[in-house]
Amino acid sequence: MSSYIKAWDVYRVRIPLVKPYHLSKVYGTITHSDVILLKIETSKGAIGWGEADPGGMKFTGDTPESVMESIRAGSLDSLKGVELEGWILSGKNQDREGSLSAACDVAIHDALARQKGIPVWELLGQKVRDEIDLLWPTSSGTAEEDLAVIEEYAAKGFNTYMLKMGDRPIADEITRVRDVLAGVPDGVRIMLDANQGWTQDEANQLFAASNDLPLILIEQPLAADDLEGLRKLRENYQLPVSVDESLQTPDSAKSVLENDAADIFSVKISKNGGLQPSLKIGKMVADKGKKVLMNSMIELGITQCASLHLGCVFKNLVNCGHAYMSTLRISDDVTNFSSWIERGTARLQDAPGLGINVDSAKIRKYLEDEYHDN
Ligand SMILES: [Mg+2]
Repeated sequence: MSSYIKAWDVYRVRIPLVKPYHLSKVYGTITHSDVILLKIETSKGAIGWGEADPGGMKFTGDTPESVMESIRAGSLDSLKGVELEGWILSGKNQDREGSLSAACDVAIHDALARQKGIPVWELLGQKVRDEIDLLWPTSSGTAEEDLAVIEEYAAKGFNTYMLKMGDRPIADEITRVRDVLAGVPDGVRIMLDANQGWTQDEANQLFAASNDLPLILIEQPLAADDLEGLRKLRENYQLPVSVDESLQTPDSAKSVLENDAADIFSVKISKNGGLQPSLKIGKMVADKGKKVLMNSMIELGITQCASLHLGCVFKNLVNCGHAYMSTLRISDDVTNFSSWIERGTARLQDAPGLGINVDSAKIRKYLEDEYHDN
């Protein structure tokens, strides 16, 4: 017998990061994880959790405030009465976008999987792995600062690092990359993320100077809509180009593919509108022989856990660490996802739904705003 959504509740929570996170000049410094949690209850009494992780107007086109405003204006009114399985199978949700769509999509998967007594990944495809290594990001800063972080985390089992760039003069960044690569312990690998911070000329300088280096990828060197510029970088240099801000929806994945603008596609459950659109993007990318980086916003354990379920069914992940470290960078979480991580590896647990516990006392502790359907 089918089941439908009977009630929903929304909680905005704001939790400080362990350390402030300096990004490119486009985004500045982030100090908190500021997210909107969605709890749904089904007609069969199952609970499902989703999480919206707005990345700001310049990243995902939404903010925590704008998401709460849209909910108060009725954006979730149609959720009540939605039939779970039909909603997933219809494929209509594959083309939704925005972090609130992602929250709905993940909550529906969680509730349906719990009702069926299966893990969420079974709703997505065939599991090809049980665990995925983590990457660790460094703030936009100097090589000395990067190497201090890398030394600390290499001792904890982390082998992949993402250097945040796009803030400092390009000549300094070029030197920084060389100095970091010269100083890292054996087995450590590096990727760069410029977060749209460079002009074409700056990107050309960095790519030319780094073309012989064993970098895993360089993410979003140019503005999100500059697919032509990204294609030129791929034509002129050997370094793999990754898209993050350019990749918002399955339609944008199609544009990036048609423009030959990337080698690697940075999938984020919340940015990409949930599990179904992310799954669709992963398949489109795989069909063209391209790879996926499982990436994240500054998100809590619900989105991280959903991302791990999806990452475990993708066959075309880049061979490196992926972004399952978000909860380790936040001073607290409303879930127990961090306990799934050991020595720099996240391991899928075999429990129905997402399989994590959500702690309502923690939600109360960090509550910034709330809204209920009745
Ligand atoms: Mg990025």
